[in-house]
Amino acid sequence: MAQYDYDLFTIGAGSGGVRASRMSASYGAKVAVAEERYLGGTCVNVGCIPKKLLVYASHFSDDFSDAAGFGWNVGEHKFDWAKLIANKNKEIARLNGVYRQVLGDSGVEIIEAHAEILDPHTVSVEGKKITARYILAAVGGWPAVPEIPGYEYAITSNEAFYLATLPNRVIIVGGGYIGVEFAGIFHGLGAHTTQLYRGASFLRGFDDDIRTTLAAEMRKRGVDLRFEADISRIDKSGETLRATLTDGSVIEADKILYATGRMPKTAALGLERAGVKLSGIGAVLVDEYSQSNVESIYAIGDCTDRMMLTPVAIAEGMAVANTLFNNKPMRPSYLNVPTAVFSTPNCGTVGLTEAQAREQKFKVDIYRTSFRPLKHTLTGRDERTMMKLVVDQTTDRVLGCHMVGPDAGEIIQGLAVALNCGATKAQFDATVGIHPTAAEEFVTMRSKVD
Ligand SMILES: Cc1cc2nc3c(=O)[nH]c(=O)nc-3n(C[C@H](O)[C@H](O)[C@H](O)COP(=O)(O)OP(=O)(O)OC[C@H]3O[C@@H](n4cnc5c(N)ncnc54)[C@H](O)[C@@H]3O)c2cc1C
Repeated sequence: MAQYDYDLFTIGAGSGGVRASRMSASYGAKVAVAEERYLGGTCVNVGCIPKKLLVYASHFSDDFSDAAGFGWNVGEHKFDWAKLIANKNKEIARLNGVYRQVLGDSGVEIIEAHAEILDPHTVSVEGKKITARYILAAVGGWPAVPEIPGYEYAITSNEAFYLATLPNRVIIVGGGYIGVEFAGIFHGLGAHTTQLYRGASFLRGFDDDIRTTLAAEMRKRGVDLRFEADISRIDKSGETLRATLTDGSVIEADKILYATGRMPKTAALGLERAGVKLSGIGAVLVDEYSQSNVESIYAIGDCTDRMMLTPVAIAEGMAVANTLFNNKPMRPSYLNVPTAVFSTPNCGTVGLTEAQAREQKFKVDIYRTSFRPLKHTLTGRDERTMMKLVVDQTTDRVLGCHMVGPDAGEIIQGLAVALNCGATKAQFDATVGIHPTAAEEFVTMRSKVD
């Protein structure tokens, strides 16, 4: 390996790149990582972490009004967006420091600059050529905004985390989990929130009962949720944005947030120059070991457009480190990957949706429950929790668990272990519930849906 400057050169110190670099170094590899923007990548800086902090902030409005039913008189309360953003930024800066420390402690050299690939073993950083036995592209993704007239007035989630003030009126375009989460955030913090999605129902790929339940709950809360609706142009007059919809109607807003998808950030990376094959949207095409068609170049995380989730990028990074430097070729598993949507209320899901199970020709039994959470018997809030199990009739195995309700992500995480162990419905039924919780419903659902 001595003919190269490094054994591994990672481009991108996000979720996947950091883990792959650290693990490779721990197996004895000489590793450098280039990062052009922020240590920790999307998740830490403009993704999961700041998003969840804003979600927490947005739930206090519910807590204050719910408190009355429990005898509390909360009195006057006021929200300070600037303070929330400042506190969030402080925490992000702390996490950037943690990432710096962790990489340094593992012996990984950090190069804070843009890196480009010149050939299968060479990268260029600030005009300097660096060689490596393996190059790992872990460059993540970037929001994509359709170029309609006036699209330059729109923001994406990247900017939403740094707004100077809380907008009074927000339009969110897009029906993926990021759009749904920001709708909950802005609405909960007091902004008049409209969410537009061009399809018939949002959260494509999630179980239909999640999609319909969440839509109903968001509408009950006052989010102006419109399906089969899209913006054809945006005009600006003073500080006001005027969105003309495809049906000709006009909505005014202070901010328009596009959450219409993220694309692999591979444009200025030099992958093609090195002979690496990309998909139509620029994703690095890799095999199960995250190896590209060029033997020495690997790619992980969002830039491969497999499952755009932090724990998946991390698992892919671990697998590459094991494959290349620990003599343990490893393929990450994409089976039963649980995920949550931090909407208001939350959604959680693992395994097959009912539609997927039927498409895969399983004969399924469906168990579903919908109930008012205990807490809301006193608050009077009209909110329902939905839980659902998809069960294979032939083997009795639970194929999927789906939930809309408070703490859905926390609850589904445990069930993901059960699904990965191949748990049957009979084993769910034999498990004693914890009373009184919402989670116990998952082990007490007895009647099948007709
Ligand atoms: C708003 C939002 C909310 C999200 N919420 C969740 C969530 O709740 N749960 C979840 O699991 N996932 C969530 N995600 C997705 C998650 O953030 C990503 O899946 C994850 O960060 C992908 O990791 P990665 O390593 O592939 O890329 P990233 O974390 O994006 O890291 C890539 C890094 O590469 C750097 N880079 C790019 N090009 C170069 C270059 N040429 N030279 C040097 N450096 C470069 C970038 O600056 C970046 O730091 C969210 C994403 C967004 C946008």
